[in-house]
Amino acid sequence: MNSIIQRLIRGNGAYAEDTVKKISRHMLAEEGQEPKVLIITCSDSRVIPEEVFSLSMGEALVMRNAGGRITEDVLEDVKFFTHEFASIQAIILMGHSQCGYYEYAVKNGIGVEPLVVECLKKKFSELELVNHISKMKVAEGLVKLEKIVPSNIKLRGAMYYIRTGIVEF
Ligand SMILES: [Zn+2]
Repeated sequence: MNSIIQRLIRGNGAYAEDTVKKISRHMLAEEGQEPKVLIITCSDSRVIPEEVFSLSMGEALVMRNAGGRITEDVLEDVKFFTHEFASIQAIILMGHSQCGYYEYAVKNGIGVEPLVVECLKKKFSELELVNHISKMKVAEGLVKLEKIVPSNIKLRGAMYYIRTGIVEF
């Protein structure tokens, strides 16, 4: 069998046996979940929201796609989650440094105006350019989210830096 699949099976065995996690799972299975935060971010393997914020099972709902884009589907899911879980106090839209999706988007002119990119290229190095576009996309995403997120829920943008592990809100 493929070695990564074997690694997943071994990893799951260890997870299922972990006593602390076992207790949490039993509690969450019986009492249901009351997640306090919804985190929307990129699928990048270096961005692990639960680890980044030291969160445990049951604390966060996490939605990820390439770039952490706010698409129509994402908006539908956000509507569902905020309707379903009165426990949600905040929604975080988190971009990250060195995002491969925005590197690709810039190169292929997807979702980013070529004219805007040309202007930004004069101001930023290539790495800074991609980070800047990630931040711009967070700001754009927040505008879309604002329209559907109930006012009692805090909506915040954030940027996670892979090298330092620091999240800037
Ligand atoms: Zn990314």
